[in-house]
Amino acid sequence: MTHDYNTFPPGWREITEKQFARSSYFQEVPALRETRQMFEEGTKDPAKLMLDRDRPVYFGSVLYHYHDQTGVALASDYWEGKVRYFKFGCDHAYRPLSSDEEHARGLRFEALICTKCELVVGRRDSSG
Ligand SMILES: [Zn+2]
Repeated sequence: MTHDYNTFPPGWREITEKQFARSSYFQEVPALRETRQMFEEGTKDPAKLMLDRDRPVYFGSVLYHYHDQTGVALASDYWEGKVRYFKFGCDHAYRPLSSDEEHARGLRFEALICTKCELVVGRRDSSG
């Protein structure tokens, strides 16, 4: 997990207010809460934008990281006076590990694996 103040985390994507209302934000205690100011791709010199009268392209955001390496964020659209909603990290798709796979990984508990990022979690964990 990197914490570069000016970069977007992997898998950054905008979601609707409805999706945010049903997100982990209202169900889980985050592992980490941080603020970032992230510049959109193609912004070569963010410092120049700040001097420009045109609207700078950046998100003042609060990011909530969860234990399953996903997260949600609230971003302030200062000029529009609006809040935008985002998700980041993998959109996990879990399948059960076979007992052979669990044994091969040295696991002593029943586990699920994400077919996209290979994160392994205990079967009793929430799969989100
Ligand atoms: Zn995943």
